[in-house]
Amino acid sequence: MKIIVIGSGVGGMSAAAMLARAGHEVIVLEKNDKPGGRINMFEEQGFRFDMGPSWYWMPEVFDAFYQRFGYTTTDFYELVRLDPSYKVFFDPEDDIDLPADRVDLDRLFDRIEPGSSKRLGRFLESAAYKYQVGMDEFVWKPGHSITEFMDSRVMKSLFKLKMLSSISSEVASVVKDSRLRRIMEFPVLFLGSTPQKTPALYSLMNYADMVGGTWYPKGGMYEIAKAFYKICLEQGVQFEFDSAATGFDFDGTRISAVKTPANAYACDQVISNADYHHIDQKVLPTAYRQYTKKYWDSRKLAPSSLLVFLGLNKKVKNLRHHNLFFDANFELHADEIYNDPQWPSDPLFYVCVPSLTDPDMAPEGCENLFLLMPLAPDLQDSSATHEKYLKLFLSRIKARTGQDITDSIVVKKFFSVTDFKQVYNSFRGNAYGLANTLTQTAFLKPQMKSRKLTNLLYAGQLTTPGPGLPPSIISGQVAALELMNKHA
Ligand SMILES: Cc1cc2nc3c(=O)[nH]c(=O)nc-3n(C[C@H](O)[C@H](O)[C@H](O)COP(=O)(O)OP(=O)(O)OC[C@H]3O[C@@H](n4cnc5c(N)ncnc54)[C@H](O)[C@@H]3O)c2cc1C
Repeated sequence: MKIIVIGSGVGGMSAAAMLARAGHEVIVLEKNDKPGGRINMFEEQGFRFDMGPSWYWMPEVFDAFYQRFGYTTTDFYELVRLDPSYKVFFDPEDDIDLPADRVDLDRLFDRIEPGSSKRLGRFLESAAYKYQVGMDEFVWKPGHSITEFMDSRVMKSLFKLKMLSSISSEVASVVKDSRLRRIMEFPVLFLGSTPQKTPALYSLMNYADMVGGTWYPKGGMYEIAKAFYKICLEQGVQFEFDSAATGFDFDGTRISAVKTPANAYACDQVISNADYHHIDQKVLPTAYRQYTKKYWDSRKLAPSSLLVFLGLNKKVKNLRHHNLFFDANFELHADEIYNDPQWPSDPLFYVCVPSLTDPDMAPEGCENLFLLMPLAPDLQDSSATHEKYLKLFLSRIKARTGQDITDSIVVKKFFSVTDFKQVYNSFRGNAYGLANTLTQTAFLKPQMKSRKLTNLLYAGQLTTPGPGLPPSIISGQVAALELMNKHA
């Protein structure tokens, strides 16, 4: 079979590699000039900046993919566990380092709220169960319909998975201290919604955080894209870069070719890994669209972001590899993302300093900083706004770490809503897909299988199982397995 994969994110590359290994002829069409999608990077003046994901969680998902092809993670990069996992700045002066070690974590909880480590232990046991069922069962279901979830093991577990209560209420039963609550609710930020609207099922993310650990691939996150690309090439996948899919030819209810401005690629099957909305609404003609504009307009998106990349000509102090500046009003910022979209008045933000772990990410004596502020999607952005927020970040960093880095900046680059749209064809400039609310989970997500075209499947963060690197890697594999089962 001749298969065209549109997009070379990890979702597209995992599907491509599996299908090529099964003997199919696979071509990946990628709009940009390199593989990886949102695992993007740029280099300037000896600094190597990762432009997308920076948190490496659930290492076993990456490893399981590599093992399908006879490799392990260490064949591609050295993975180091960060300790502390991250640092959180609260207001007033109170910084907490999250230890990687469970015993130290218990001590931290008991120091802040005596007796809370016992409740944390029970919470993490239940999170471990959710993680196991979630990763063994749920994420591997293509999500075509509710019937997939009707088998007895899954039905039995539904009650224990707590689909109908919120993560916020579950966390409240473990700790009262507002700082510990923020720490336990923080992983939900990856899921693109508030703790009040995220099902308690997703405390499985706390398991990934506090038990599974926060890891870092030496050489930077782009090493993941390089590993997937290498595997694809070894399986015989062909890549066409700077080749955006801009249209299709049809033969009844089948796609017969994918068109780029330079070529038309005849095919038997298409897997679209580009943002689902872009292909569905901008590339397919109305008759073949899976969803309406109204459907897409009613989706709750995960936030967009303002990203700032800074190269400093000196080393920093009092920062860790991952730093969460939670010294602001959490509820107000969430409200300005989800309920009343606007540029935030008192934002939380995140600072990553990979050069603290990996000196190769910056020239000697220098530091590489990546700053991220979550934002409502589709806001108007401008360089004046970017500069205004950078000033605010620098003053907060100065206040909390006691150092002024303003005059040490030798490289500076912004990336925000407009860039997300231009670079990735991202729907409303989202950074990581749809929010994981109850009504956008599993079979309620945009469907992997097209109902209008018999040879079109979708893979990646906007379909099942959802956003983030591990789910997107799984999504590509599920799409490939679907296709292989169909043609078995
Ligand atoms: C700033 C940021 C921070 C993040 N942080 C984390 C993190 O710390 N940890 C984590 O696990 N996840 C994180 N994520 C999420 C994670 O990066 C994504 O969920 C994942 O990379 C999505 O992979 P994908 O394969 O679904 O899609 P993508 O990576 O978006 O790939 C889609 C590809 O399709 C291409 N494309 C678009 N239109 C066309 C077209 N018409 N023709 C051809 N190609 C096209 C795009 O150029 C892109 O290469 C983050 C994302 C961002 C943006």
